[in-house]
Amino acid sequence: MTRFALTRAVLALLATVWLAGCSEPDDPAPTPAAPVIESQKTGVRILLVGIDGATFNVIDPLIEAGDLPTLGGLIRGGARAVLESDRPMRSPALWTTVATGRTRQDHGIEHFTSEGEEAEGEPVLANSGMRRTLTIWDILGAAGRTIGVVGWWASWPAEPVRGWLVTDRMTRSRWSEWADGVKQEGLTYPAELTDELLPLIVDPLDPPMEEIRKIIELDAADEAELLAATRPVRAHGLSVLKYALSTQVTYERITDHLLARADREGGRPDFLAVFLIANDAISHTFWHYHQPEKFGSIDPERLARLGPVVANVYRRNDDYLAELIAGADESTVTIVISDHGFRPSGKLPTAGAKRRLRDAFTEEFTETEEGFETVTVGQSGVHHPAGIFVAGGGPIVAGSETDATLYDLTPTILALMGLPIPEDLPGRVLTEIIDPAFLERYPIQTVPTYERLINRRALLAGADAENDESTMEMLRSLGYIQ
Ligand SMILES: [Zn+2]
Repeated sequence: MTRFALTRAVLALLATVWLAGCSEPDDPAPTPAAPVIESQKTGVRILLVGIDGATFNVIDPLIEAGDLPTLGGLIRGGARAVLESDRPMRSPALWTTVATGRTRQDHGIEHFTSEGEEAEGEPVLANSGMRRTLTIWDILGAAGRTIGVVGWWASWPAEPVRGWLVTDRMTRSRWSEWADGVKQEGLTYPAELTDELLPLIVDPLDPPMEEIRKIIELDAADEAELLAATRPVRAHGLSVLKYALSTQVTYERITDHLLARADREGGRPDFLAVFLIANDAISHTFWHYHQPEKFGSIDPERLARLGPVVANVYRRNDDYLAELIAGADESTVTIVISDHGFRPSGKLPTAGAKRRLRDAFTEEFTETEEGFETVTVGQSGVHHPAGIFVAGGGPIVAGSETDATLYDLTPTILALMGLPIPEDLPGRVLTEIIDPAFLERYPIQTVPTYERLINRRALLAGADAENDESTMEMLRSLGYIQ
């Protein structure tokens, strides 16, 4: 075999191994790649639930009062830790650190947009193309584990995974004012999934009022204002609640749909990550009703009505967590985390500057000056570096308590799933929350790095990119060519 022919043969192999989108036209499921990472079969599956901005400062008093039965049960039967965030606390950077185990300087997503980078023209919203390092789902997929990811920050455009990935741009709102309109490409992997999921998208202009009313008791003026908002106005409570909840309901419906199908067709993904965003947006804008003692005088009628809004989001997330856990099998370790916590800013929202906001509301609403006066803008809740980590099930030790950082998620999940830990990650395996018998049976192994083993650029390259240097690099890294 000539070197050229060998290369062709290897590329043909890789076309089936790596580029799952190139399966036979009549084959509905993409061909899974052959595993290239050796691992121990621990039997552990992972359910990772990301709740943006969740804090024990809200959770603990609720649990003490007998509320949040699911999270409370998970903590009692498992482990908890304050999860130390990284400054500045920007969600795309933080959630990408969770998913990669790396610093933002390493993984490349530092801001909400490409601001500060040497991008030409308008800054673009943080996206997967800016990520320079592997995600945990890349690594687990390369070890043969199946993957499901829904709504993760900066996951658009969808990259190939061993399973399915629904990006953070699947909804219309994340966040259309930054995202330069609706992008219909790259919304999901596999791409065919997009059409199937489009009908599940909740339109914030036709919002899920039944779901909204479970969280907030609206008076007539509030309801008019909520309905009149045509985009999420920064730091405006009713519009961000509407858009954030529409986004979250969309991802819940999509997750339910995909899991129901997985249950019919041979089982849930080995690694399932679901991201819930509503808590962050609502905590920013309704915190003064949650902790009124930290603010000046608040209208007592509104306080009585809106006092439970923040707690209600936690209750809603607890109910959804119960659903996810109910469908998981006994081998599943459930991990609930946030990227940061929250604290009161001490500053009450104030009446919005009319002219600046006028285009964010329907004309009917702005015409009624009286109604428009109700618009208030301001962040009464701001990020705090103490996030949450809760884990339970499988070999997680009941009642254990520790400290953790965003960097510890990737190594800990890899250890639970029996994969060697790459030595080039700064975090650690949270061994103190894992049953020693499990660690004895599946000792923690290490590997220098996965970054050269799985070439990200090659992973993304099309099947026709035969001359692509990155594909060649990967072939070299796997020892296929010199
Ligand atoms: Zn936030």
